[in-house]
Amino acid sequence: METHFSKEQLKDKDNKSSEKILRKCVHCGFCNATCPTYQLLGDELDGPRGRIYLIKDMLENKKPANEKIVKHIDRCLSCYSCMTTCPSGVNYMHLVDHGRSHIEKTYKRPFNDRVIRNFLSKVLPNPVLFRIIGTLTILIKPFQYLFPKQLREMISIMPIKFPKKKLPKMQIYPAQKRKKPVARVALLTGCVQRVISPQINEATIRLLNRHGVEVVVPKNINCCGSLNHHLGKSKLAEETFKKNISIWYEEYIKNGLDAIISNTSGCGTTLKDYGFIFRSDNELKKKAKKISELTKDISEYLDENVKLNFINNKENKKIYKIAYHSACSMQHGQKVHDIPINLIKKTGNDVVDIPEGHLCCGSAGTYNLLQNDIAKKLLKNKVINIKKVDPQFITTGNIGCITQIANGTKIPILHTVEVIDWYTGGPKPEILRRL
Ligand code: SF4
Ligand code: SF4
Repeated sequence: METHFSKEQLKDKDNKSSEKILRKCVHCGFCNATCPTYQLLGDELDGPRGRIYLIKDMLENKKPANEKIVKHIDRCLSCYSCMTTCPSGVNYMHLVDHGRSHIEKTYKRPFNDRVIRNFLSKVLPNPVLFRIIGTLTILIKPFQYLFPKQLREMISIMPIKFPKKKLPKMQIYPAQKRKKPVARVALLTGCVQRVISPQINEATIRLLNRHGVEVVVPKNINCCGSLNHHLGKSKLAEETFKKNISIWYEEYIKNGLDAIISNTSGCGTTLKDYGFIFRSDNELKKKAKKISELTKDISEYLDENVKLNFINNKENKKIYKIAYHSACSMQHGQKVHDIPINLIKKTGNDVVDIPEGHLCCGSAGTYNLLQNDIAKKLLKNKVINIKKVDPQFITTGNIGCITQIANGTKIPILHTVEVIDWYTGGPKPEILRRL
């Protein structure tokens, strides 16, 4: 694609990167074929190619965002399905991140919109605040019909209870039965995940400890920053990124880290992008790059570094039919797809593909809260496709997808790591107790 940025504009690092991305696009439109919003809405501007034009026009012509542009960019899920399809290697992720940040700087959203986005930006990344608001939400759930539509929908998505934590809160979880651990990793326990599904982190820690890996959970790391990053709130996101980078890098230098483990693929995608985000920051670029290099999804880490010790016991003798839901941030963002499937297959169960598995379930960070109508349609389609393969349960690698899909079906859904933990000596996951 031809671009017309001036020399002056190209001095800006973000314009420079976006210009390179735009030049790669050859307008072929292949990406539209796998874009969930284009498929649902059928509008060119609700597909990647149209959005690329909108972003190009804003950036190149120094235009502030307007209502029309914001509508179509807001409808993008950041699922990155278009990146998997694009034959020219267009990095839509970096372009839309730049577009969102430009919108945040140049467009004044309607009052309600601003209030909701600011609320989400403050509450979700803060586990203490999130727990307080979450508990209040549980209390007002029976009266949700009294609230305006968007608030009502947000309340309905919230879980009805927060499970109790079973592992004590510690900064270092030592490897079991070994004087010296075989490896030492840091675990990102996530902001929302640790509150609504603490069992995922507990299964991860148990599993790693049982296989000789020491797990470090630095106390001041909560959110990875992606929530604010995707809301276009670059300044807030950068503050979190910088804090995380300095804490992990210090741990890496002082005590050694073999990896930083993410068990939430949305967060893992952002951690793996820290290096790019700080590419022009002389002080941080080396550290940020190192953090990105160290980051592994839990499935990648297990596959590459751990000889899993599968155990047969009375409880797991039955063969289950398991549907694997490949989260967009995992399959499109990190290009990790076969690894978790192969890990689950090692448990001896049947693993089945979900038809149209490349399409988003509608979760997409805060998307199901902000774009509820589209998110609901995507969820409905996802559930129809899951039912076609009639699984006994579903596994995935992202808490957002777990929450979203659980709102659409009674088929149990849990994190892949909970299944691997169970089959290597951990407890049977609570959600599967009736199977
Ligand atoms: S990220 Fe997903 S929703 Fe957004 S343009 Fe690409 S395919 Fe469409
Ligand atoms: S598939 Fe790639 S090159 Fe073709 S229009 Fe989409 S982004 Fe551009």
